[in-house]
Amino acid sequence: MKSVYIVGGGLAGLTLGLRLRQLEIPVELFEAGHYPRHRVCGEYLSGQGRDLLVSLLGETPLSQAGARSSLQLRIYRGKASLTERALPRPALCLSRYRLDKLLADAFSRVGGRIHAQTRQPILREEGWVTATGRQPSIREVGWRWLGLKAHALDLRLPDGLEMHLTPWGYVGLCPVEENRVNVCGLFRTREPVPNLIHQWRDWLSGPPGSALHERLRGANWDESSFSSVSALSLHPRRASDQPGVRVGDSLTMIPPLTGNGMSMAIEGAFLAVGPLASWAAGKVSWSECTGKIAQSLDQTFSSRLAWARRLQQAVLHPLGQPIAWNLSLLFPSLPHLLFRQTR
Ligand SMILES: Cc1cc2nc3c(=O)[nH]c(=O)nc-3n(C[C@H](O)[C@H](O)[C@H](O)COP(=O)(O)OP(=O)(O)OC[C@H]3O[C@@H](n4cnc5c(N)ncnc54)[C@H](O)[C@@H]3O)c2cc1C
Repeated sequence: MKSVYIVGGGLAGLTLGLRLRQLEIPVELFEAGHYPRHRVCGEYLSGQGRDLLVSLLGETPLSQAGARSSLQLRIYRGKASLTERALPRPALCLSRYRLDKLLADAFSRVGGRIHAQTRQPILREEGWVTATGRQPSIREVGWRWLGLKAHALDLRLPDGLEMHLTPWGYVGLCPVEENRVNVCGLFRTREPVPNLIHQWRDWLSGPPGSALHERLRGANWDESSFSSVSALSLHPRRASDQPGVRVGDSLTMIPPLTGNGMSMAIEGAFLAVGPLASWAAGKVSWSECTGKIAQSLDQTFSSRLAWARRLQQAVLHPLGQPIAWNLSLLFPSLPHLLFRQTR
């Protein structure tokens, strides 16, 4: 049996590694960082990825780690809010600090080899898979995208999940383990933000007078959970236009507003397993394997990426946001419809 080498041990790389090991395929995984660690993420997993994750790890380890289920979502803009809606299916809410560690431990237990704190150059050779996360881009149509996240302790969220639209982006509030609320936002800027280490609380707390500002007034932050990411590329990319096997954000990043990136990382990893297993067993060539994976990734993701792109352009554009908001007031099922299209 041939070995598979995975570069990047985030959600996509770990899921792929664990699933391949469950099929007894030799796997080595290289991760530049360590476990556990905080990452910028809304920590809200919805869509098919949730079921796949449960099938991979089982309900019990996830609930023992403190994973919560959230069904209700309320969307705010300034002080106003849309009627609270139930999501079509509950989302799984667990910090990446816990989730990635859970997956890394499960991978090691079934004989996967992790080389942590090892930044591996990407090799264009047979058996090598890229799962290195986002492909950076300094600017997109003149904007820079900045992602920030931190946990607030002992914050009460009456309605479960909350999404707050702000003049420069959005902030999501998601209840995770141990009475923590993950506060995570995506923001548009023209210029780099040099003083982020002092200013992140202001960015995450929204404009004074808004419901978000009220909610986070006097928040007790876990400073060690703060993380940030910049140079995000939200432009959709096709697998068949890129060499080798890529999964997760290293293939393409869906706008975070959809809350579907983790699901795509997990779904993409599952789609890659069959062809990689056939290649490892010597049943297909590497080029047949990469071709099959690219085809199924493109078929599965192209429609939701196109919808997500339109949604991002409407909701996070200074002119589009009031239009999208007023349409949602007129047609209350609109956010629901868009949510389904990005799954
Ligand atoms: C602001 C924001 C909010 C989000 N909110 C949500 C949400 O609520 N729900 C949701 O589903 N998704 C959300 N996402 C998206 C989600 O976080 C990503 O889609 C998901 O983390 C992708 O997983 P990944 O494994 O592809 O990448 P990552 O989790 O980024 O992992 C990539 C890994 O590769 C490692 N690496 C990189 N280069 C190398 C190298 N050369 N050698 C070794 N290791 C390397 C990195 O250290 C990293 O650990 C959000 C994203 C942002 C930016």
